[in-house]
Amino acid sequence: MSVLRRNAQIVFALAVLAAPFSGVMPAYWITLFDYIGMSTLVALGLVLLTGVGGMTSFGQAAFVGFGAYTSAALTLDYGLSPWETLPISLLVTGLAALLIGAVTVRLSGHYLPLGTIAWGIAFFYLFGNMPGLGAHDGLSGLPPLKVGAYALTDPRDFFVAVWVAVTFAFVASRNLLDSRIGRAIRVLRRGSTLAESFGAAAAKLKLLLFVYAAVLAGLAGWLYAHFQRAVSPGPFGVVNGVEYLLMAVLGGSGRIFGALLGAAGVTVLRDQLQDLLPHLVGHTGNYETIVFGAILVLILQTAPRGLWPLIAGPPPPPARPAPDGKTSLPTREMPAAGEPLLEAHALLRRFGGLVAVNDVGFALRAGEILALIGPNGAGKSTTFNLLTGAQTLNSGTIVFRGQEHRTMTPQLSARNGVARTFQHVQLLSDMSVLENVAFGGHLRGRAGALRAMIRLDRGEEAMLLAEAHKQIERVGLGEHAHKPAGSLALGQMRIVEIARALVLDPYLLLLDEPAAGLRVAEKKALAGLLRDLRRQGMAVLLVEHDMDFVMSLADRIVVLDFGVKISEGEPQVVRDDPRVREAYLGEAV
Ligand code: ADP
Ligand code: MG
Repeated sequence: MSVLRRNAQIVFALAVLAAPFSGVMPAYWITLFDYIGMSTLVALGLVLLTGVGGMTSFGQAAFVGFGAYTSAALTLDYGLSPWETLPISLLVTGLAALLIGAVTVRLSGHYLPLGTIAWGIAFFYLFGNMPGLGAHDGLSGLPPLKVGAYALTDPRDFFVAVWVAVTFAFVASRNLLDSRIGRAIRVLRRGSTLAESFGAAAAKLKLLLFVYAAVLAGLAGWLYAHFQRAVSPGPFGVVNGVEYLLMAVLGGSGRIFGALLGAAGVTVLRDQLQDLLPHLVGHTGNYETIVFGAILVLILQTAPRGLWPLIAGPPPPPARPAPDGKTSLPTREMPAAGEPLLEAHALLRRFGGLVAVNDVGFALRAGEILALIGPNGAGKSTTFNLLTGAQTLNSGTIVFRGQEHRTMTPQLSARNGVARTFQHVQLLSDMSVLENVAFGGHLRGRAGALRAMIRLDRGEEAMLLAEAHKQIERVGLGEHAHKPAGSLALGQMRIVEIARALVLDPYLLLLDEPAAGLRVAEKKALAGLLRDLRRQGMAVLLVEHDMDFVMSLADRIVVLDFGVKISEGEPQVVRDDPRVREAYLGEAV
């Protein structure tokens, strides 16, 4: 059983591919599988968009329409062959997605799915009202696909074309996900701030994913047009958009093979229900839509990860570095100890009437550990967020290595060589420790999506993974590298975040409560690591509640209370400062 489970994807794919040639599969089912293959392409795009990237689209059927109508119009009106229209159809669909995505992908929360419904409906009516596209009747008499002089008119021949396309799409999608860009895409689900804190362009990645999903839908549309040899607006509306989404969700919205399972499940079910339901109800009608809606809700409630994980078990073992992974990634020259690194001048941030950070300033030099302390709500995390651009400054300036910034963004901060951890751990719990950490090196790689899809990124990828592995070893979590990050204890997750920050190769490391949840021995190891980094010339800015930890480690301490700096100096000086003692109201300092 375990062998079968481990190879479930291959077994499943082979069984599907072999079926129509077995001689026992009725022609009717072969045709059904042609449709399943085309739907799989659309669902695959949605798996990436929805399950991986966290964006829901009900409008995917419209992109199928773009692909289908483009090819239909070009073959009928301009006499192009279907093969000649293929790149044009994909390009038109991709451009349409780029324009639509540029305005919709930015929508947050429920507005994005609502936006996709809106343009899904709009394009349905557009297709149906353009005389040039045959209005409601559509276009017919399209040429079939041909290989040489041989026309793929038999559903069995067409089957090969469809499933070759599906295979390419699967390979490209898997390669994309298993890459530097793919990691950044998977990180998007955790929110833009995390992605941008390591220099990934969240908005661009979302648009990339949106366009990629649309191009897969456009490919399905192109196939569809030359299989049906006719197009009409019917199959490109929002009802079909919901069906495609159901396929992605049913199969398993985070796993690419779920798209196949979902497309097969929904297509077969629709087929059966269309026969059965009118019979039961006693009227003709599209009752299957009601059943699909109910299934969608049921799946989301009982198996939100879809059916594929239940069949195939846990995800395949994640990426591993090549054993000889030499790293020649770009590396920063560390400044000499004592060189000015960061100056914060009069930082100010309000939340409504509350001044969370009020006129706070301090300086930090290379090779220095500066601790930021203060009671809860003093403004420590907000100060961190201002320095890293995660929150915007109301006023004040940040000087980093001689360069003055009046505004800061997470991406700029990462490019400057500032790496951070978060007070509330931000890891992808189902991604391995190794991959979480490798994401920290996003800016040290160059390979883009296209190179990743055809695997021209393997050398660089091996180096990124090797670098990640090195930092995981360094923080003492080597034995956990291949476990899902979510399986670690909270204290260990904080350390994983430090490893991820180190892979950025930072000048400055910002740690928000790194020792919280650590045991005594682990705290000692962490202190040792930070001293080590200091020796190499790295600067560390530390928020921490454990006073013994802070007092023994920090070179200097800045104390905040109600957003105001009340004391600054060497640990001994700060410890004896009466204002500090008062702020902590007798807490042991
Ligand atoms: P610390 O990290 O020192 O415990 P924070 O910087 O998190 O403190 O918070 C400082 C103050 O700002 C607190 O009173 C907190 O409630 C408030 N605050 C922080 N973030 C926000 C926010 N996003 N919106 C409104 N108030 C906030
Ligand atoms: Mg805090």
